[in-house]
Amino acid sequence: MKEIMPINGQFALMNLPYQDLGNVISANTLSFHHGKHLKAYVDNLNKALPGSEFEGKSLQNIVLNAQGPVFNNAGQILNHNLYFEQFSLAPKPMSKAFADRLTAQFGSFEAFQKEFETKGATLFGSGWVWLSADAEGKLVITQHANADNPLRQGLTPLLTFDVWEHAYYLDYQNRRADYLSALWNVVDWQVVESRL
Ligand code: MN
Repeated sequence: MKEIMPINGQFALMNLPYQDLGNVISANTLSFHHGKHLKAYVDNLNKALPGSEFEGKSLQNIVLNAQGPVFNNAGQILNHNLYFEQFSLAPKPMSKAFADRLTAQFGSFEAFQKEFETKGATLFGSGWVWLSADAEGKLVITQHANADNPLRQGLTPLLTFDVWEHAYYLDYQNRRADYLSALWNVVDWQVVESRL
């Protein structure tokens, strides 16, 4: 993953590459999720950086080494950047090579989807479900609470679904499982594979 660096000591709010995601995620949800929630994480981290040991460091460096509020805000920026960037209204399919890796690891694409959705649905409270590659290239699905990221376990994060309630409550209310199963329609696999 390319290191995300601050400019003049400050991180930028990523540009959202779409206004809505059709009937999967509404413009209203995206407006709050990107324009309020993510923006608050960016603003809070930027306020904490000047004069701290993490001033001028990459976002990934902060996620790996910080604790407390600095880690929480940096983790949420990295998580949301990866989340928003992986979706598209015209998503590109996965390569045959990646499909073969998923099948080899999980038995079938459907079995992978089922395990990913189950791990998202059963994560207690707020957090993220991830598909990552380990050091040997093996694909793994992991649950992470709050702002955590698989980088902190030495994994390479590839795909993530946000299961904080703010990600889905306006569109799906309490139906987290429906939100998770709908997200597959907008995953751009070319973006996911580019993270390998
Ligand atoms: Mn979120």
